[in-house]
Amino acid sequence: RESLIETIKETIKAKNVELLHMQFVDIEGTLKHVTVTAEQIDQVVDGKVMFDGSSITGYTPINRSDLYLAPDLTTFAVLPWTVEDGYSEARFLCSVTNPDGSDFEGDPRNVLKKTVERAKEKGYSINVGPELEFFLFETDEYGQPTLRTQDVGGYFEPSPKDLGERVRLEIYRALKMMNFTIEASHHEVAIGQHEINFKYADALGSADAATTYKWVVKTVAQQFGLHATFMPKPLAGANGSGMHTNISLFDVEKQENAFYDESDELGLSETAYQFIAGLMENVKDFVAVTNPLVNSYKRLVPGYEAPCYIAWSASNRSALIRIPATRGAGTRVEIRCPDPSANPYFAFAIIATAGLDGVERQLSAVPAVDADIFAMDAAEIEKRGIENLPTNLEAAIDRFEAGEIGRRALGEHSFGEYVALKRAEYDEFRTTVHGWEVSAYQAKF
Ligand code: GLU
Ligand code: MG
Ligand code: MG
Repeated sequence: RESLIETIKETIKAKNVELLHMQFVDIEGTLKHVTVTAEQIDQVVDGKVMFDGSSITGYTPINRSDLYLAPDLTTFAVLPWTVEDGYSEARFLCSVTNPDGSDFEGDPRNVLKKTVERAKEKGYSINVGPELEFFLFETDEYGQPTLRTQDVGGYFEPSPKDLGERVRLEIYRALKMMNFTIEASHHEVAIGQHEINFKYADALGSADAATTYKWVVKTVAQQFGLHATFMPKPLAGANGSGMHTNISLFDVEKQENAFYDESDELGLSETAYQFIAGLMENVKDFVAVTNPLVNSYKRLVPGYEAPCYIAWSASNRSALIRIPATRGAGTRVEIRCPDPSANPYFAFAIIATAGLDGVERQLSAVPAVDADIFAMDAAEIEKRGIENLPTNLEAAIDRFEAGEIGRRALGEHSFGEYVALKRAEYDEFRTTVHGWEVSAYQAKF
């Protein structure tokens, strides 16, 4: 720790860092920060920076609002877009502590840390690799986002069609300077839709990375006069944006991937099958977290590479769970329902908890479905016993509130706050008269 602090101080000096942003997330995963001067680095590393928790969604009531920020020193990064001659800014991602120094239980980062500890007690560390898709939209003369996409490219299409390629290049450069290992970048299926992939890490590292990535993508896009959105389904009739989550367990004692077994037909271990079964058993109870918006459920419809049926397969992109072809140390399951509007800390916590539930209860996985489910008729789907994911946010919250897994993964505090927040959001939607209703009914009735 001491040497890490020394290195940080040296960087502050060498890069002329003047301001430090102390970052954390609220219950929705929205990034927040308070900025202090770099001269206060000693107080900063001692966790002395205080803030008002009652102004953060899902945190504390006003009568016990003082909370503190404990920076994770490994997340220190100079912000590439602030660097000028003799000036720059840096950030830390922080965990939130109570005035007595204990972890504040409503901080999503602390929630995920607890999940990681519980897995560790069972002998596992959790590896996660998320894939966040996003759209780039033009802004209007007031700088507000429009629904005009800025390119006409399609899947894997190179420039000159894909003007977004230049934006992606700058995002890549910024992320790389912030210590990301970038693996790939491409134009996605829909017009204006993109994806940049970074290397997998432990669950906390990947939730930090997803949070940082969303911020960097938005920041760089803005420099091009564009608006980047992680809204799951901005355009009806086109693919939405997913946050496919690749996850695996690592057996700490044996020092090997716990999902791989070369003697199995598919190369998967008993643990992997149980984990898949746990995901399928609990998915209806956790989509309120992995798919948190009214809009999330407009993505989960047939025909757009997003899942709506609860099934798994070694290859099938119409299934909820896919097993990417890599085996050995890279063996993992890819769960395809999450979207990038989810709070990554909660999402990874609840996915891991659901999978581990299957391992603990030694559930067995139902047979894989390798045929295209989107091409099956209703009778065939029913015959195979394939169930649907909840089709709207209200149904998802009902399941979440009645189920076990949400409480276990999020803890009492965040669980209660989350249900209240999502109920209020759905109620607002439910009591609003939408454009579709007016155009479908006003003239006709
Ligand atoms: N955009 C698709 C989704 O909504 C995923 C496309 C892909 O397989 O990368 O999940
Ligand atoms: Mg993709
Ligand atoms: Mg994928």
